[in-house]
Amino acid sequence: MEQKKRVLIVEDEKSIVDILRFNLEKEGYAALTAYDGEAGLDQALKENPDLILLDVMLPKMNGFDVCRILREKGSSVPVIILTAREEETDKVLGLEIGADDYITKPFSMRELMARVKANIRRTAMQQSAGTEGAVQAGGGLTIDPDSYQVYKRDKPIDLTQREYELLTFLAGHPGKVYSRGDLMEQVWNYGYVGDDVRTVDVTVRRLREKIEDDPASPALILTRRGVGYYFAGQ
Ligand code: CA
Repeated sequence: MEQKKRVLIVEDEKSIVDILRFNLEKEGYAALTAYDGEAGLDQALKENPDLILLDVMLPKMNGFDVCRILREKGSSVPVIILTAREEETDKVLGLEIGADDYITKPFSMRELMARVKANIRRTAMQQSAGTEGAVQAGGGLTIDPDSYQVYKRDKPIDLTQREYELLTFLAGHPGKVYSRGDLMEQVWNYGYVGDDVRTVDVTVRRLREKIEDDPASPALILTRRGVGYYFAGQ
């Protein structure tokens, strides 16, 4: 029997935890729970879940710090931030520190489950991806699909899963320009395009900071003004 995918819920409001757990279990996931930031970080490191739903305002340690520390420790687990505020700064900050996605409370359960599914499916696809050995992507970049490791002139680069997937998608179609909506659909697995295309811009910026010699003047991931992004390489 296939093992259930495990979702860690880090949230201090018990009523929200209960409804999340109920819906996750109904969809066939196993739910782990933590009610403060420190316990959430502990469980995330110890249990190595398949996805984390992470509240921002938490006792002991806030969600942004939990996510930042997880990334610093090299974890690439998909993280969806649950933010109570509509503020753009919150969303962008979450993405800057390495979250994969955010959803604003109060959220629709259907929407949240769609995102959980999209992020977990993405991980599963990666793990069953073909193994053709390392690929030279140009610009001194090497992508090793066996280990999901990217090297820049032989130096390993830490990418989150989403950054890795965006890079391999663009690098797999060099020169082809993709709109932010295309990328949302292809890389994020979302079948809609709304205000959230901002997510794409933040992820591209973060990726450039990691792989470009001069992020302000990129040579690998280029912008086609008014259209979208493409991989130049070489
Ligand atoms: Ca809270």
